[in-house]
Amino acid sequence: MLGVDGWYAPQNVEHVLQLKKELPKNREVDGIKLLFGCETEFAYDGKLALSEENFEHFDYVIVPHSHTHMDLVAPREFIPDDRSHANFIMKTFMQVVTHPLANRIAVIAHPFVPGTSYAKYNSVQSHIPDSYLREAFTAAKEKGIAIEMNGSCLIYMPSEEIPNCEYVRIYSVAKECGCKFTYGSDSHRTCEDRKLYEVERFFDMCGITEKDMLTTEELLARNKK
Ligand SMILES: [Zn+2]
Repeated sequence: MLGVDGWYAPQNVEHVLQLKKELPKNREVDGIKLLFGCETEFAYDGKLALSEENFEHFDYVIVPHSHTHMDLVAPREFIPDDRSHANFIMKTFMQVVTHPLANRIAVIAHPFVPGTSYAKYNSVQSHIPDSYLREAFTAAKEKGIAIEMNGSCLIYMPSEEIPNCEYVRIYSVAKECGCKFTYGSDSHRTCEDRKLYEVERFFDMCGITEKDMLTTEELLARNKK
């Protein structure tokens, strides 16, 4: 993607599509169906990093709205403190659900999680009121965009903090609003442990059950013109 560095720099469409060629022809391994999707990027000015014509290369497209560790996504002057940071991600969430291609977006990745420090993101999240969350998740539900539970976020969350964390409050509101959910490991490599064992406990605390999960059919139906 243009304008980023480090791990992200080579992750353009051409690079990502190399992996698609490695999938078995029948798209199945040990009875498990393989789909090919991507998490694209979304910048503060409402720009999606994946163009409409490139949507067709993917079975589904996930969009993040809180990669605020990158200047390109969130210029530092926009997020000088936790309250401004919260306002910023509140705005970008609404930008994703109202984007012209929102009807093709399957899932919002790790909603309202800026960065990897639990203390930091829990503090930012504490500035997001329930009234806003109801409005935002109702908009996502009406657009048919599912909400991701992200395994990476659980890694950075101390187990003993789970019962009282802001993240449980946020997901509980999403459940109340009737959103559908997915689980994403967010693994950058195949060998990473993404704390799968905490997912069930976390979902139980938010009242999220199997009925609330997005089905494969629903996922695949999103990226249709
Ligand atoms: Zn992400």
